[in-house]
Amino acid sequence: MLDRDACLALDADDPLRGFRDEFVVPEGEIYLVGNSLGALPRRTAERVRAAVEDEWGRELVGGWNSAGWYDQPLTTGDRLAPLIGAGPGTVVVGNTTSIAVYQAVNAAVRLRPERRVIVLDRANFPTDNYMVQALPGYEVRDFAEGRFDDAAAVLLSEVDYRTGARHDVDAVTAEVRAAGAMMIWDVCHSVGALQVDVSAADFAVGCTYKYLNGGPGAPAFLYVNPRHQGEAVNVLSGWYSHAEPFAFEGDFRPADGIRRFTVSTPHVLSFAALEAALDVWERVDLAQVRAKSMALTSLFIELVGDRLELASPAEAERRGSQVSFYHPDGYPVMRALIDHGVHGDFRAPDILRFGFAPLYTRYADVHAAAEIVAEVLGKDLWRDPKYAQRLAVT
Ligand SMILES: *Cc1c(COP(=O)(O)O)cnc(C)c1O
Repeated sequence: MLDRDACLALDADDPLRGFRDEFVVPEGEIYLVGNSLGALPRRTAERVRAAVEDEWGRELVGGWNSAGWYDQPLTTGDRLAPLIGAGPGTVVVGNTTSIAVYQAVNAAVRLRPERRVIVLDRANFPTDNYMVQALPGYEVRDFAEGRFDDAAAVLLSEVDYRTGARHDVDAVTAEVRAAGAMMIWDVCHSVGALQVDVSAADFAVGCTYKYLNGGPGAPAFLYVNPRHQGEAVNVLSGWYSHAEPFAFEGDFRPADGIRRFTVSTPHVLSFAALEAALDVWERVDLAQVRAKSMALTSLFIELVGDRLELASPAEAERRGSQVSFYHPDGYPVMRALIDHGVHGDFRAPDILRFGFAPLYTRYADVHAAAEIVAEVLGKDLWRDPKYAQRLAVT
């Protein structure tokens, strides 16, 4: 078992060690929630200040042209595309993941008009399933049934938000497409954590505020495979997706290419923060991120040992970048851990989640976190009644 000195040695040898200084990580706290809200990149404050004072303040409405605001959904999409294995002109940024799910599923089922089944995983993040359950005229089937031959579309998360279990994207995509169904991946919990490649899929969606560090409320993204771009319909046909938005025509005509999947005015100030985060990602080797992520999660599992029951796959290849454990009193345990400086989160009914963002989490942090877990559990510190009181956001 690795001791603290061995962890410090791993940190000294880490090819990603230089990135930690590019983030604001509170001193003395171990932040293992980068899978929910990524840490603040140091360069973000200046980029947002520039967007507010230099662009909005000085250019005013001219910023739509001079500062490139108008094309932000597309230019940012092209910058993000390499992080999901996609090429230029295939990704649009804006709105939220839920909205992108709605666009992707509606476009997918219209490409298979003779089929009336949508396959969902019970393990999907609830919003993905909620958005689809609202679609009239479709039967919903559970992915576990493994039948796709009459399905219009299959919507899955690459990495399970609760357990961190990872699907084999290539294998599932091939099976679903061979059955004639459209494959839609949600990569919220994998983008920025591993080498995502959705290029064989029909559609993909994801958010940018988790491992990508785009900031609270950062815009989401939608990937549309080029093979569908001529035919696929955007059900949220706002003025931005019109062939000539500034012709202000009375009737809708869709734009060509990925612009068709924009909806309306981009959230310019949120894009500024995301752009600063992408300045960091442009210099990151995702193979190094994945290697470190597997090492950090494996180390945490090893150091926590049998103090907690593992809810994540034991094999690193089959996990994303988080480790989850079951505990019947998960809520007070997590509150106690946070009070002692280890920030994870709790997912009802009984899951403790710890996310390991490889750009700013060190091996020594993992070691210290495991020691605090041992203390909080070993000394029953979590039984203090003050930890039982529920906060609004867990
Ligand atoms: C975080 C997350 C979302 C969030 O959806 P929003 O519309 O951005 O609130 C959706 N799906 C998955 C899988 C997620 O992990």
